[in-house]
Amino acid sequence: MGLLSLGTPLPWDQSREYNEHIRENGISQLLEMFKASFHRLNDTYLWGDEVEYIILDFNNEAKTAKVSVDKDYILEDLNENGVFYGKVLDNNVNFHPEYGRFMIEATPNKPYDGESLKDYLYVEENMVRRRIIANETLKGTHKLLTITTYPLLGVRDFTSPSSKPNGKASQSLFLPDETINRHVRFPTLTANIRERRGEKVAINVPLYQDKNTPKFDDSIPRRSLFNHDDEPFLGAAKPNHIYMDSMGFGMGSSCLQITVQAPSIARARYLYDSWANFTPIFLSLTSASPIFKGFLADQDVRWNVISMSVDDRTPFERDVKPLKEGNEFGGLKDKQGVKKIAKSRYDSIDAYLGDIQNYDEFLTNGNDAKYGYFNEFLNDINPCLNSKVYDRLTKFQTNNGEKYFDTPLAKHFAHLFIRDPLVIFNERIQLDNTTSTDHFENIQSTNWQTLRFKPPTQKAIPSNKDTPGWRVEFRSMEIQITDFENAAFSIFITLLGDAILNNNYNFYIPISKIEENMKKAHKRDSTINEKFHFKKDVNDKLNYETTELSVDEIINGSGSFIGLIEIVKIHLKSKFNIELSPSGEYSRFYYYFQLISKRASGEILTTAKYIRNFVQSHKDYNYDSKVDETINYDLLKKLETVTELSDKKALVEFFDEEIGEYLFNNKFNEFVV
Ligand code: ADP
Ligand code: MG
Ligand code: MG
Ligand code: MG
Ligand code: MG
Ligand code: MG
Repeated sequence: MGLLSLGTPLPWDQSREYNEHIRENGISQLLEMFKASFHRLNDTYLWGDEVEYIILDFNNEAKTAKVSVDKDYILEDLNENGVFYGKVLDNNVNFHPEYGRFMIEATPNKPYDGESLKDYLYVEENMVRRRIIANETLKGTHKLLTITTYPLLGVRDFTSPSSKPNGKASQSLFLPDETINRHVRFPTLTANIRERRGEKVAINVPLYQDKNTPKFDDSIPRRSLFNHDDEPFLGAAKPNHIYMDSMGFGMGSSCLQITVQAPSIARARYLYDSWANFTPIFLSLTSASPIFKGFLADQDVRWNVISMSVDDRTPFERDVKPLKEGNEFGGLKDKQGVKKIAKSRYDSIDAYLGDIQNYDEFLTNGNDAKYGYFNEFLNDINPCLNSKVYDRLTKFQTNNGEKYFDTPLAKHFAHLFIRDPLVIFNERIQLDNTTSTDHFENIQSTNWQTLRFKPPTQKAIPSNKDTPGWRVEFRSMEIQITDFENAAFSIFITLLGDAILNNNYNFYIPISKIEENMKKAHKRDSTINEKFHFKKDVNDKLNYETTELSVDEIINGSGSFIGLIEIVKIHLKSKFNIELSPSGEYSRFYYYFQLISKRASGEILTTAKYIRNFVQSHKDYNYDSKVDETINYDLLKKLETVTELSDKKALVEFFDEEIGEYLFNNKFNEFVV
């Protein structure tokens, strides 16, 4: 979750006056980062995943499964000086705080080497070790599950121990502040988003329509504790939608992220652009969240929920009427310098970076930037820009006359820097821009987009290979129930990235089409029902014609496209000389690919579909789209057995015969840590 410095966070009213200071110095820091690391070349294809967990408290007598809000001390046990730190180090794992007090994130401690086949085979083992260690710190009735959303978040008495929704930070009608990470950064983030916006965030998710489904979210209480309490009745809550009113409904979800290091900035830009195409496809394929706040949703993914949950734009910026008169400018108070902004700061990317080909000539001779496949017309969204930042970057030259920012790269940062800082620490305002990245990261890490372009720090001079180089992060995927699945998707995305870097495919399509694909990915059962815009011929270097393909066709191939699985298989063969087979040393890969292939074809249900079916066929389901405590408990118990690979029947049901039996007989989760 970005930076976690200690100190006194300023409330919105006081932090505002430093907004421009943070942006200006953030860009100065970025320039120092570029100066140090611009000429890095031939960096290794290192990579790593991030897995997020939700901590549950199962009560087998009462048949409840609640989220634990008093187990967050485990992070201290797991981190430096903690009692488990030895184990953490010995097992090459690392734990990080998350937004929810009921959440935790874990990564490999040292990144994997993408040049090493052995490392790919070790990914799942590393994930298993993380889970074993974290569960060991919990004990008793508590257990970590990798579910994207907790079904009863915000429903009645859903926390363990009990807590009430009356906290000042979120002012939510449903979520107690006890669900928010205790570190001051998080309640401040929550409060400042609301204050800037001038209203509480309003999340409306289409409600799944069943026989007895209410027309209006009937779980919204009338209350008059805070000024914002009446908002749902003033139009913030929409008919036929599930209404949620707090950052935690989004940031309390778990996802799977992959970060890879590219050989150079030029290659990182090409990889970023190529991966863009896959962000909606893999959002769809990993869909795992059909339930929000105790209701079945008419969508399968979390993405737009998080987007709405941190949307700090004022009514004017969003181009809508305020809920209460006179509140157009929210916490900004007046119109000065304020523009309409099309999207939330958590959203899909709006522009390609451009696969620049002649960086040296561009830098030193002032030649126009030349691109491989990228062309300006592909950036057809025209996102809002911070023109001051844009001018500064495009005019920037180093002492020896080098300029780093061609148009699309300058636009990228100028777009990120339209946002205000959300949390500023009083003790961290005047910083040394040659060593600190805080101000840059303040803006960068609160632009939560489908991809993140991660520049290196000021320490990352070309010879310093111990410090990370130019990285790209793939951020759209939902977390999966088993480590097997999470490993499969992590490895697949990483290998696909390497295949692209090695074979120079042209996946560019106009970025507005990717935007449309994001919308399609939100539809219920999009994996099997939707057709997505896709490049017609990925080997054609000049033609940008698109076609529409299903996820099945994109993954498994169609008449015109060989399919991503084939692309990755060809890469595995040429790089490591292996072929996939259900037996032998690399059989695990075979099953990873089978999983992805069958999810795409619909032979294996997506996690979302499995969960939806489970609810709809539960004996207590009343055809009203509601999930009660018993259904929740039974579902999570079932998912627990799937996680633990302990019940063959459950595995066969969740996957299919082939993968279910294979996993049951080839457990990977019995390491001694
Ligand atoms: P963030 O939360 O900012 O995305 P994290 O540190 O939580 O970042 O996770 C980033 C991932 O990147 C981890 O899996 C980590 O192992 C991996 N990683 C670390 N160093 C490198 C590197 N040089 N290149 C690629 N990935 C790296
Ligand atoms: Mg995280
Ligand atoms: Mg992280
Ligand atoms: Mg993070
Ligand atoms: Mg309890
Ligand atoms: Mg991340």
